[in-house]
Amino acid sequence: FKVIEGEKLRKKLHNTILELKGNIRVFCRVRPLLPDENSDEGKSVSYPTSMEVLGRGIDLAQNGQKHSFVFDKVFMPESSQEDVFVEISQLVQSALDGYKVCIFAYGQTGSGKTYTMMGKPGIPEEKGLIPRCLEQIFQTKESLLSNGWKFEMQVSMLEIYNETIRDLLPSSRSNGNGTRTENGSAAKQYAIKHDTNGNTHVSDLTVVDVCSKQEVSYLLNHAANCRSVGKTQMNEQSSRSHFVFTMRISGVNETTEQQSQGVLNLIDLAGSERLSKSGSTGDRLKETQSINKSLSCLSDVIFSLGKKEDYIPYRNSKLTYLLQPCLGGDSKTLMFVNISPDPTSAGESLCSLRFAARVNACEIGVPHRHV
Ligand code: ADP
Repeated sequence: FKVIEGEKLRKKLHNTILELKGNIRVFCRVRPLLPDENSDEGKSVSYPTSMEVLGRGIDLAQNGQKHSFVFDKVFMPESSQEDVFVEISQLVQSALDGYKVCIFAYGQTGSGKTYTMMGKPGIPEEKGLIPRCLEQIFQTKESLLSNGWKFEMQVSMLEIYNETIRDLLPSSRSNGNGTRTENGSAAKQYAIKHDTNGNTHVSDLTVVDVCSKQEVSYLLNHAANCRSVGKTQMNEQSSRSHFVFTMRISGVNETTEQQSQGVLNLIDLAGSERLSKSGSTGDRLKETQSINKSLSCLSDVIFSLGKKEDYIPYRNSKLTYLLQPCLGGDSKTLMFVNISPDPTSAGESLCSLRFAARVNACEIGVPHRHV
């Protein structure tokens, strides 16, 4: 009897903690050492001596000092893409249920953000969260038809580079059916507006009605080819812009007359490295400063929401203003903090973990209605 009572109490406590924490989660993912990082025989173990993962905790030792962090989940280098997806599929279901969901990948260049979001092209078991989310959404759409649910999906893909929005999808002129801009004007302003229903509109942004995973995959390829890439000392293909994939999911049940309006935002953030590490000068310096500013705005917004301040500085960056409806109320937010296990990245890893810890300590909006 005591065991059952204890178990009940544990569950109740767990649920209470979840409610107190609100609807933001932070997952940490440590990528494996890459072959060139692994060349030194002394470091050929999975973890360099400076980092230790224990359950939901991660310890990082730097300059003789140990720093400990605890997150909602820590994925080890051995964790597969499937292991990671299993932990977020509930959020995808939430978007189908009518919630606004935002999933970010944060970390220095080369820490595994794009691998987490997109995966490795052409290797099915290494596909990332975005293709896996699409599979789940379109499978669920089919399976709920028999229950009377009909879903319509629309996607947009943009990047924010130096605080300027760029559309990554083909405009209506180059791709006819189903594609349009949100207003018909010729000069593209990409002005962000929020309507009274909490929906975001970006003028002139291409929004495409999609019916299948294949259609979205085609658009994702198009977007990937359009993305700005810059060369820094850290990674030749490093992405210096925030990539924002948005899918609006509208559901209507003709039998029960229920309706749902969900949004799934998947954001591959630009590399968080500091100026000294990226070795930037000229245009690269401007990029790095702009990235750092918008990432710190993101942290400020989440922090202000957590402290329930009257004024939330959404307008201080394009990213936070764009995502305003998904960063408050009953929206759900998940941040991946991607970490490189290479000891030479320990300084940057510590900064990333501190950023994530600041985000993790906050409660946003009202508690979860679902998990
Ligand atoms: P970022 O987007 O943060 O700049 P990438 O996703 O491009 O970093 O990752 C850098 C390199 O590490 C790539 O070669 C990628 O394939 C590899 N990588 C990242 N995470 C993993 C992982 N979990 N398992 C295997 N390889 C990974």
